[in-house]
Amino acid sequence: MLRSPRLGVGVNSNEGEVLLNDSHYDFLKTLVETASPPGAEDEAARLWRNYVQPYATSLSGDSQGNSIALINPEGSPRVQLAGHLDEISLIVRYIDSDGFLYFDAAGGFDPLTIIGGRFHLLGPQGKILGVIGRKARHLQSDDEHRRSVEIDDLWLDIGAKDRAEAETAAPVGTYAVRAATFERLGTGSLVASRALDNKAGAYAIARALELLSKRAVTAAVYAVATVQEEVGLRGARVSAFGIDPAVAIAVDVTHASDYPTADKRRVGDIKVGGGPVVTFGPTVSSHVSALILRAADAAEIAVQREAVGRNTATDADAIQQVRAGIATGLVSIPLRYMHTGVEVASLDDIEKTAELLAAAVEHLGPRTSFVR
Ligand SMILES: [Zn+2]
Repeated sequence: MLRSPRLGVGVNSNEGEVLLNDSHYDFLKTLVETASPPGAEDEAARLWRNYVQPYATSLSGDSQGNSIALINPEGSPRVQLAGHLDEISLIVRYIDSDGFLYFDAAGGFDPLTIIGGRFHLLGPQGKILGVIGRKARHLQSDDEHRRSVEIDDLWLDIGAKDRAEAETAAPVGTYAVRAATFERLGTGSLVASRALDNKAGAYAIARALELLSKRAVTAAVYAVATVQEEVGLRGARVSAFGIDPAVAIAVDVTHASDYPTADKRRVGDIKVGGGPVVTFGPTVSSHVSALILRAADAAEIAVQREAVGRNTATDADAIQQVRAGIATGLVSIPLRYMHTGVEVASLDDIEKTAELLAAAVEHLGPRTSFVR
């Protein structure tokens, strides 16, 4: 999800109980841990394509890096599922004479969440460690201590002895992602990681395609792992233009409000473990939301509701406005601590999201129309 102000209201419902099997879990964990900076999603895209290959009638890429898996090509209507594969990243912009690296942010970082953090730089000779340091508290004046920190105030220390050594290991243009792994949190279905935004959604789309490949489907289904969402919804926009679907469902993460300091008045009542979240508001077609709710009901999947008055800050915003307009829905996975290295989600919600997508597509008949 893009970083932008959101407004919302909602209600929550029951807990899910399905867990992923081992091969699903391994795919999700590997996908989350494989670096995918906006504009450099290729390695993660390869993984995603390998997973969907056995289930797809055809599989293609484009010049932007989108991955498009298709089943039932002669079907009607054409439906696009879109889940972005990119993750917020840093990109090296300047190296000083002492070999310290300054960077731009590809996506929205809260500077406070990267100070003291470890990053992996994806250098030309391989992955290297970098750390983001800060002057010790002992050495800060009271004024320095109170001052807010901006991204431009920070640097990466890769242990280089000078600029030449740093330039060899991580030249200008090198991407860096948080060195945070995917781990179980607690004894239930929770996981903590960087980049659950939105590898969890890209995973759900791959799983939905897998489920649909074993069912009778009327629609032509285009499952798309989109790129460059975090820097402006770019992959979704161009892939939807190319596919020209009658209906689309974007899948992303959304803010949970079930942790201290989260404000339900601002984001609604959204619980991790409460099930997939269905969005209402001007970005989404009310017909598509209604279809998703009917599918949830029929498949007995508990869902939560979210309302967004303007932009959803997801691929849905772009897809809705492609060509002459596409009837678009949005299904989201509840997430705590978005855009940090410790995002928290529920495996049950992720799996239920895949099932909900599959159920919604199954509910499309050949004459389903979203024209009003
Ligand atoms: Zn995001």
